[in-house]
Amino acid sequence: MPIQIITTVAEMQQRAQAARATGQRIVFVPTMGCLHQGHLSLLEAGRKQGDLLVLSIFVNPTQFGQGEDFEDYPRDLRCDSELAEVVGVDIVFAPTVAEMYPQGYATFVDVEGITKGLCGASRPGHFRGVTTVVGKLFNIIQPQLALFGNKDFQQLTVIRRMTIDLNIPVEIIGMPIFREPDGLAMSSRNVYLSAEQRQQALVLSQSIVEALRMVAAGQTDSSVIVAALENRISSKSAARIDYIKICHRLSLEEQVKVDEDSVLLLALFFGKTRLIDNSYLKRAE
Ligand code: AMP
Repeated sequence: MPIQIITTVAEMQQRAQAARATGQRIVFVPTMGCLHQGHLSLLEAGRKQGDLLVLSIFVNPTQFGQGEDFEDYPRDLRCDSELAEVVGVDIVFAPTVAEMYPQGYATFVDVEGITKGLCGASRPGHFRGVTTVVGKLFNIIQPQLALFGNKDFQQLTVIRRMTIDLNIPVEIIGMPIFREPDGLAMSSRNVYLSAEQRQQALVLSQSIVEALRMVAAGQTDSSVIVAALENRISSKSAARIDYIKICHRLSLEEQVKVDEDSVLLLALFFGKTRLIDNSYLKRAE
């Protein structure tokens, strides 16, 4: 069957219901498009785990703040559909903003607590937009399984919380961060980087390597590790630090001491481009 592109909620919901009625298992990968190998790794894994593989492509305005890059965010549905077809996607769901948020739209999903720190602190309202759109997409696509990247660690934690709290019958899988050969985590926003910024952005993955080395050598004091990383970043790049934190992987609360549940989370600005990366410090991804 050739790949199908669906743009309306009604058609997508009918298609999902029909698939479920015949016992098909629906696997879902939500994205904002401009697909890269990181997205494709989620789709390839998803292809193996169900019958109907649905990719959504929707640049969701409610998760962008004032002055963020909603208008400029890269969009290329034709290229994305071709890539999706190669990895065996059955349906691309690509609605318009008006289809998702029609006149009179008034409902939002807000996960409390864990959305307030880290990216939530520098992007107020961001996770409210994410959980709202993902909640809507779950209702439209009705997947049994949905795959997300560990790259957006806080997002994944927040989505797990939402599905538990709202009793949404979907299994959430977190997938490893896919990196460029030199270590930079793949991101649709990497296209914004100048050649010089692209080079400096390596400080993200290099910081992770340094933190892992310190932990392997016995360092457990979070403030010592964070201070070393701050030093490295300010001496080796022009990046502006948004945050560098060591947090508990579930509560996302900052930890004084590194333990089995610790995750290092970084967000740095290179010019106007904000990039994030993360790694567990004492467990495999
Ligand atoms: P986005 O299009 O940026 O909203 O990302 C869509 C999904 O792809 C999210 O679940 C991301 O966490 C995931 N993703 C983005 N970049 C990567 C990457 N480098 N490796 C693995 N997953 C990723």
